[in-house]
Amino acid sequence: MIFLDSAATTPVRREVLEAMWPLLTGDFGNPSSHHELGESAKRALDAARTSVAASLGCRASDVVFTSGGTESDNLAIKGLALAEPRGRHIVTSAIEHEAVLESVDYLARIHDFEVTVLPVDAQGLINLDQARDALRPDTTLCTVMYANNEIGAVQPIAALAELCRAHGVPLHTDAVQAAGWLSLDVAGLGIDALSLSGHKLGAPKGIGVLMVKGRRSLEPVLHGGGQERGKRSGTENVAGAVGFAHALALAETDRAERAVRIAQLRDDFVADVLARVPAAIFTGPALAGAQAGADSHARADGDASARTPTPTRLPNNASFCFPGTSGESLLLELGRAGVICSAGSACAVGSDDVSHVLTAIGIDEAIAQTAVRFSLSGDTTAEQLATVAAEIETAYRAVRSLSQ
Ligand code: PLP
Repeated sequence: MIFLDSAATTPVRREVLEAMWPLLTGDFGNPSSHHELGESAKRALDAARTSVAASLGCRASDVVFTSGGTESDNLAIKGLALAEPRGRHIVTSAIEHEAVLESVDYLARIHDFEVTVLPVDAQGLINLDQARDALRPDTTLCTVMYANNEIGAVQPIAALAELCRAHGVPLHTDAVQAAGWLSLDVAGLGIDALSLSGHKLGAPKGIGVLMVKGRRSLEPVLHGGGQERGKRSGTENVAGAVGFAHALALAETDRAERAVRIAQLRDDFVADVLARVPAAIFTGPALAGAQAGADSHARADGDASARTPTPTRLPNNASFCFPGTSGESLLLELGRAGVICSAGSACAVGSDDVSHVLTAIGIDEAIAQTAVRFSLSGDTTAEQLATVAAEIETAYRAVRSLSQ
């Protein structure tokens, strides 16, 4: 099997499992218990929080452990928007994950928020001038994802943070796909809140983090025993938190080297696929931007049009449309050949809907149905990618011959 679906999920790393094991067995206490077992669990949780804070460049008290990316997005958006007295207006982008779009929609439906949705260009990038125009005195929150899960578009998040700061608007970013590939230095990026998910990083499913700057008030979504400083009630997933902290630290250790190496493999793979299937359309940001470096965002000083950042793309994302086929049929053919990838995004349960991301970048609905996403991991090899490119050609021919 060749697994090219890391944007959907990743296996738990051995070191992560080993770090978690004691907390699941002998050292299994509840951090709220006032006995040695409970206090030991609390120490492990505190150490995990400190470690995550070191990886993100924030305070330990800014780290809230959650059940994953979806909960982090919900807590950030509902929690910040409802706690902010400025008004009832939210700014977001057209290509957010459903966890963001549905949370924003909830605020609009139930709490009468007004929503401005920033469009994206053909590469999937927002425009900073449009973002500036969207910010209003009653804007309570701007939420724009760091990197897109389907087409790998990386937004100019540091520049957007400066704009938001100048307007006094908190900025939340969904960094679920960025983790392990892009800088998560929240102080350097200037963001107020950031969502992460463990299972995209080599930690288990069911653990995540919301980093939210302590000065920001946050209305809790889960009410109960007041854990996580009242921001997220519920007995803490101690082993998950320890695993998350380990996975994040490991992902950060060799991130820059991995990003460059995998971007190069990805670029060669894309060239190979386009040579074998000339009709294929490579979707999302052009590759030259990705090679320019993942952390190379312009800052938000001066004229916005002059500082539009270099188009950039996640190093591990290669997404295509194959006109004249169907993404699902290609997925089946590739699956038979032992290649695991995704038709668009695996984040919505059994969804047959046309991708809102692909339509937002101007791809025709019929073409969008032919999308296939390949997402590499740090362990992906050139040999695997050469095999996959050949299998794509075979699968493409097979599906085309059936549909003619
Ligand atoms: N945000 C993005 C960009 C994602 O890609 C995903 C999942 O794929 C999520 C949020 C949801 O994360 P989780 O699966 O941990 O709930």
